[in-house]
Amino acid sequence: MADFLTPAERSALMALIKGKDNASTELRLVAALRAAGLAGWRRGLRLPGRPDLAFPAARLAVFVDGCFWHGCPRHHRLPRTRRAFWSAKVATNRRRDRRVGRQLRARGWSVMRIWEHALRRGALPATLARLARALRAASDRPRRPAAPAARRRPRP
Ligand SMILES: [Zn+2]
Repeated sequence: MADFLTPAERSALMALIKGKDNASTELRLVAALRAAGLAGWRRGLRLPGRPDLAFPAARLAVFVDGCFWHGCPRHHRLPRTRRAFWSAKVATNRRRDRRVGRQLRARGWSVMRIWEHALRRGALPATLARLARALRAASDRPRRPAAPAARRRPRP
């Protein structure tokens, strides 16, 4: 196993190997939403980029971005070896993030991206407040006439 990884990178790598980019941070967000009583979100909706969470009624898609994999300006550090490889990998991820954002917006969705570090305990309240604001803004947005969300039936 590669020894040049920091613990954070190693856990990100293990998550990638398991096929889940940021499973643990995503679950932390889910737990925080439950604790804060924020409702109306779904996981696993078939939308471009497979958002970690989506609020269908507000048409807000939420992604949790790992600091290593998505090149967080504060925390991303290239490993000492295979720098070109890792650098290209992160650049590819960021390009995909932008493309997915465009695809979602073209379908009438708003997009919120949350850094992994914004889910740390101390940062969580501010992140939830930001999410609540994004949710309000997305809900207040004028609807496109044919927005499928408008035809959604209320939850039983
Ligand atoms: Zn970060």
